[in-house]
Amino acid sequence: MTEDPKPANAVRLRATLDSVPGYKPGKPAAPRTDVTTYKISSNENPYPPLPSVLEVVRESAGSMNRYPDMGVSGLSARIADELKVEPDEIATGTGSVGVLGQLVAITCDPGDEVVYAWRSFEAYPIVVALAGAASVQVPLTSDARHDLDAMAAAVTDRTRLILVCTPNNPTGPVVHADELERFLAAVPSDVVVVIDEAYLEFVTDPEAPQAIDVWRRHPNVALLRTFSKAYGLAGLRVGYAVAHEPVATALRKAAVPFGVSQLAQDAAIASLDAFGELQQRVDALVGERTRVFDALRAQGWDVPETHANFVWMPLGPDTMAFARACDEAGLVVRPFDGEGARCSIGETEANDRLIEVAGAFRGSRGADAGA
Ligand SMILES: *Cc1c(COP(=O)(O)O)cnc(C)c1O
Repeated sequence: MTEDPKPANAVRLRATLDSVPGYKPGKPAAPRTDVTTYKISSNENPYPPLPSVLEVVRESAGSMNRYPDMGVSGLSARIADELKVEPDEIATGTGSVGVLGQLVAITCDPGDEVVYAWRSFEAYPIVVALAGAASVQVPLTSDARHDLDAMAAAVTDRTRLILVCTPNNPTGPVVHADELERFLAAVPSDVVVVIDEAYLEFVTDPEAPQAIDVWRRHPNVALLRTFSKAYGLAGLRVGYAVAHEPVATALRKAAVPFGVSQLAQDAAIASLDAFGELQQRVDALVGERTRVFDALRAQGWDVPETHANFVWMPLGPDTMAFARACDEAGLVVRPFDGEGARCSIGETEANDRLIEVAGAFRGSRGADAGA
């Protein structure tokens, strides 16, 4: 029997969808027989789950016929206790990207503006466009840092939200405490300023702000944090904001009901319990970051200072060729065509191989590649 041809589809979707860029996830590494392949394209934690956390998740899976605790009360109370804030100043979501969507939903009507640095986290333009809001992208400085003075100058009557990504994904530098303070003094107090600290645990710069203290002093500031990176729970989707009223309550209103699974809630609590062990892994990754950074700089690459679990290689027009060279060596990096490649700090062997491929690539292109 032959199927009827599909009828043409006349449904009306929102015009704003045309301006929504698709999220390009880090490619998985294709398995090969000749080399072990490594995925260093998504800033994931290369360590497998801690046995204690895995055990809690196994236990929790036995109740997955039930909806999770919709108020995420146990986890919120636990986070609040760690940070010395009130439990109702914590608002959770399906990863911090989920919370980011909630933040845009509660602040922006169509046509309102969201200011953020560019290049920065590629989820930003997506969530902003989905809300029908307008992105105002402020170029990074030549050393790949936020230009906070230019960002303050970009604020208009339509600005409702500002995103400050520190350390910045994909380039790595942090904003400094003094420049952030100056910036917050310049921003109108009715604009919500979000400090996205996805890589907070990897920061070793003494000039980085103590964001909780900044938050306490500024009613319009919210912090965005995640269990996906240092805590190694990327696959479970849980993140949170630290926010003052009325932002925190609004964020809870905008959350997907029952979005954060019980597995994720329980795993996050178990990970906070085990943070001593996780800290050792973070320290090891920071050590590896320093090793990779130093090696790439010694090869002549102009890698910006990084306080995250990745390095940025400013390859410009050579970006895609470099990504191909990495692919051939069994390494999947995250290229941004014409700009550069973000390479996550992974297993020691993956890091060794990155250094090796980068050295060979530089040799083959002459000394001015990526300078
Ligand atoms: C990885 C990342 C996040 C976290 O994403 P989740 O949704 O929590 O997994 C948030 N912000 C930035 C800048 C990131 O790089």
